[in-house]
Amino acid sequence: PRLSASTLAEIPGAVAVPTYDRAAVRPGIVHLGIGAFHRAHQAVYTDAVLAAGDLRWGIVGASLRSPDTRDALVPQDGLYSVASRDESGERLRIVGSVATVLVAPENPTALLAALTHPDAAIVSLTVTEKGYCHAPSTGELDAAHPDIVHDLAVPERPRSAPGFLIEAIARRRAVGLAPLTLLSCDNLPDNGRTLRRVITRLATLRDPDLGHYVADHIRFPSTMVDRIVPATTDADRNAVSAALGLEDAWPIMTEPFTQWVIEDDFAAGRPAWDEAGATFVSDVAPFELTKLRLLNGSHSTLAYLGWLAGHETVAEAMRAPGFARLVRALMDEEVTPHLPGLPGFDLDAYKDSLIARFRNPALRHRTAQIAMDGSQKLPQRLLHSIRARLEAGAPFPRLALGVAAWMRYARGTDEAGRPIDVRDPLADAIRACTGHLTDAPAIVEAFLGFEQVFGTDLKASPTFRAAVETALARLLRHGAAATVEAAAA
Ligand code: NAD
Repeated sequence: PRLSASTLAEIPGAVAVPTYDRAAVRPGIVHLGIGAFHRAHQAVYTDAVLAAGDLRWGIVGASLRSPDTRDALVPQDGLYSVASRDESGERLRIVGSVATVLVAPENPTALLAALTHPDAAIVSLTVTEKGYCHAPSTGELDAAHPDIVHDLAVPERPRSAPGFLIEAIARRRAVGLAPLTLLSCDNLPDNGRTLRRVITRLATLRDPDLGHYVADHIRFPSTMVDRIVPATTDADRNAVSAALGLEDAWPIMTEPFTQWVIEDDFAAGRPAWDEAGATFVSDVAPFELTKLRLLNGSHSTLAYLGWLAGHETVAEAMRAPGFARLVRALMDEEVTPHLPGLPGFDLDAYKDSLIARFRNPALRHRTAQIAMDGSQKLPQRLLHSIRARLEAGAPFPRLALGVAAWMRYARGTDEAGRPIDVRDPLADAIRACTGHLTDAPAIVEAFLGFEQVFGTDLKASPTFRAAVETALARLLRHGAAATVEAAAA
């Protein structure tokens, strides 16, 4: 039998299950991009709010791409398991906050109806970096993006996340509904302000008056989100289904750690997520920047070097010679000196906990998953730290090695000369202009042509160019495993 509302009572007592009246829950939140991360993070905090008795905040999930999550969850009445794992074992709970899942390309009207429902007050997003249709180096809307061009031409049948949001805002405004709060939960620097720039620009392109309405009434709190959530495997599905005694088509695997810091700036009410462990603050920027540069910067460096060295998961890479020392030195020497002060925040303890989380052997976080979309991730994860080093006149060999490893990877062939399935919006363009090159200076020169990644400043910096060339030459000559071992010595 399948996990569903009617089989919930059969679940073993050790597994926590929702006990609130799910039929009475109202659709206060619409979530765009209902992937693994949302289901392990915001939906879990919201589940606790519903369990505490505030039933205004049910989640209508939407996918803007594939129907896979809907196909798994709708037959389960939106229910799914979250398994949190570390070396001490596994804890399972069933989450009930997702009421239903819509697939936007199949039925854009249904998503627009959810967004314009009078109960909807918050639209949260985990649509990945590329879902914002912006240039990562500047954070501005890419008005030439094909989905944006489409959504300006046919606004009532949008394709992009910004297109859906603008159409919903315009319709709500026309009928006098309360203004929305748009809550980005993606790993973008200043995610709220980035979303505000993109949405305000798109609104203005449609109608300057709508642009003013967005600027004056729509709220865009920034957030810092943290929980490592690897993609679910078939082995995970089987293990969870066995533990439940019921089939769960798409359980979520994660770690015990979870953190959510949110700016307390909502247009029309919000759940008491703080009672479920979130922190409301007036300015999230220092938290977000600290986490992006330490956690995500290390993660991407580990992912490219680890993948090239033949390690399937982050935990495996962390056990290989040199990797753990390399990321700790990257954090301590090249990132930490340029972080904003966070009074009362113990940075050393935070970095210790990051190393322990990266080592978590129970979490099979694949290097290939983190390696995806590097062109969208590199600026905020590594390049901003490099800019701070350049400004301080300080060296950055490990950050440069992370950037060089991305180039080595994104070129599209592995160390044995086999093709790599690079998933990145720029994959084809990168391969076309770098795939045939063999020496480090020529490869770096070609990559620096991608201004949407490196901006004009890094292209013009001889120091940056030299550091990346040196690192890339080592990678090409000695391979990733030996380069990491030597760099950490
Ligand atoms: P996932 O692959 O499970 O889900 C990605 C979701 O984004 C899917 O719903 C997909 O349809 C949607 N999407 C992809 N491209 C899109 C586009 N161009 N427009 C609109 N929607 C698009 O991935 P995930 O693990 O859920 O991660 C999603 C995001 O969450 C990440 O990109 C990151 O910003 C954030 N995040 C993830 C983690 C993690 O450990 N997985 C941790 C912190 C933050």
